[in-house]
Amino acid sequence: MSEGREDLVPFDRVDILDVPSWVRETMKEVAEEYGLDVNKLAFDDSSIAGWGLEVYYAGKPYGGILLMGYDRLSRRHYERTPEEIEKNIREVFERIASDVRPPRRAVTDAQLRAMLEKARRDLEIPEDFKIVTENLKEKAASISFNSRVIRINEELLYDPEIVNYLIYHELAHYKLRTKFHPPRFYDLLYSKLGEENVREIERRVLRKMREINGRGSLERRAPRRR
Ligand SMILES: [Zn+2]
Repeated sequence: MSEGREDLVPFDRVDILDVPSWVRETMKEVAEEYGLDVNKLAFDDSSIAGWGLEVYYAGKPYGGILLMGYDRLSRRHYERTPEEIEKNIREVFERIASDVRPPRRAVTDAQLRAMLEKARRDLEIPEDFKIVTENLKEKAASISFNSRVIRINEELLYDPEIVNYLIYHELAHYKLRTKFHPPRFYDLLYSKLGEENVREIERRVLRKMREINGRGSLERRAPRRR
């Protein structure tokens, strides 16, 4: 994208735009804080020459960082304070970060439906289910046998493997008509998804649930067979 803008100055050459080194350092620190790649930053001072920089990230403009202010009363320019400039840098970088941050939700409703259909077929469950995502606090997922609703904790939607596993897990409860995890419950899951795979995904779920709540709860760990 930046190919078309050869006039843009990359971060490592921003000194040529008369940017004080402390501003450069502050930008670097704030970029790191927001998880931005400084090599994707570029600047243009032609539109606000002498006043500051127009900031680009991956070739896209995100607004200006002003080094000079203008006082309307005295009609004078003044040097902005370090606090003002840092605040400005944060505003622009925050805008970039929220634009480039991967969406929290990786699994779409259509994918949820597709996963559910596949798991139902695999487990040979003729009944249809409604699948909803919500804030379940300490629970990763749940199922209602009567209303046939599967609930998935929305905090886990970023990981398709976890979501797929939780659908299998809840459907296995339904298939075997038990809320518990007797040996036949994990036998069924292991036969469909593989023991190591199931154990590894449950560890990931527990880790994430502990991160959210300070403790885990997938009722209990998948047991080791053999
Ligand atoms: Zn369970």
